[in-house]
Amino acid sequence: MLTVRYLPVHVLATPNGRDAMPALREAMARWEKSGLVKFDPYEGERLVCFSFASLGENVAAHTSLSSEDANYVPICFNQNASWSLATGWRNMFTFGAENMVAIACHEMGHALGLEHAPSDADSVMVHNDPSRIIFQSRYPTNYDFNNLKAVLTP
Ligand SMILES: [Zn+2]
Repeated sequence: MLTVRYLPVHVLATPNGRDAMPALREAMARWEKSGLVKFDPYEGERLVCFSFASLGENVAAHTSLSSEDANYVPICFNQNASWSLATGWRNMFTFGAENMVAIACHEMGHALGLEHAPSDADSVMVHNDPSRIIFQSRYPTNYDFNNLKAVLTP
């Protein structure tokens, strides 16, 4: 079991001062369903930091993976994007808004060591296809869990 420590993002650092943590915790919970990983705010062998900053126009979020220290992973969300922070299924489809839970699931997959999946895979790790991430694979799938297991098994 991999324990990932996360540094909560302060509400004042998020766009419009909205609290992103419920959406981020929901994304963590979806990965925890694998039984392979758990997220903890206080301790863990890997550290994930969340932040908001100006990214490129067509970039929703970015995960910085360092070849030197795989156990420190900053995840940055584009502060200029329109974010839906809704965690419930009904509110996932806010027009014109990126769903933070779905995007966070994808970025956390990178933080856990997963690469992009082929575009036809049933996976939250399909690259840069917002319609698919938002409408089809908002959750990590068994495909993703199997890949995670392979990555975490020495
Ligand atoms: Zn990606």
